[in-house]
Amino acid sequence: MNIVLLGSPASGKGTQADLLCKKFNLYHLSTGEVARKLAEKDQRIKEIIDSGKLIPAEEMTMHVINFLSNEKPDLKNILFEGFPRFISQFEALSNFLITKGDNLDLVISLDVSQEEAIKRISSRRVCEACGENFNLITKPSKFPGKCDKCGSNLIQRKDDNEDSVKVRFEYYENNTKELIDYVEKMGKLTKVNGERPIDEIQKDLVEIVERVKNEQNNN
Ligand code: AMP
Repeated sequence: MNIVLLGSPASGKGTQADLLCKKFNLYHLSTGEVARKLAEKDQRIKEIIDSGKLIPAEEMTMHVINFLSNEKPDLKNILFEGFPRFISQFEALSNFLITKGDNLDLVISLDVSQEEAIKRISSRRVCEACGENFNLITKPSKFPGKCDKCGSNLIQRKDDNEDSVKVRFEYYENNTKELIDYVEKMGKLTKVNGERPIDEIQKDLVEIVERVKNEQNNN
């Protein structure tokens, strides 16, 4: 089963994706993580990410398709987080999966208002070593300033500053919303209210995935 999780910056995509992947044994493909890895060796990409801009759509598509074709050719059951963000990326991914005899089974959009997302961003922290996400209010670490997983320091993401956040929302409004409308018109979108506690949202998501799995088993 392949799932796409769409949502604005700080909609909780990463947290929910982690939980869903553990529950259903899915491979978590976060293109934010892919991009941050690329940025370690590529100053141009680092500047794009830090400023809140997106990597050009086709370039990011190429990284994803190359990764799936070359590094994980036998991979099945993927949860895509942060990709696609453009209609062109959605089409490219759908076509790629079809050539592998596979499919996109479920597209979920996690909805939060911009006001709520901005509030979350100011309290978001990330582990500088392993990348695990925390939130001072909704998902605090056990020891302040330290990662639960590896004990390293928690920092703010470079692109979580006011200017970059503004740019990231512009991209969301101008591109990803267009994609969400597009998928909705195809009748393929499931919307979930993301302005609730983490476990409540997860419960809904698990039910949605289980429903689709049962439908597939009955066909
Ligand atoms: P995220 O962690 O999903 O907020 O992604 C961090 C950054 O990675 C973005 O601001 C972009 O610069 C880059 N990125 C991630 N996914 C994509 C994508 N689908 N298309 C273009 N750039 C992306």
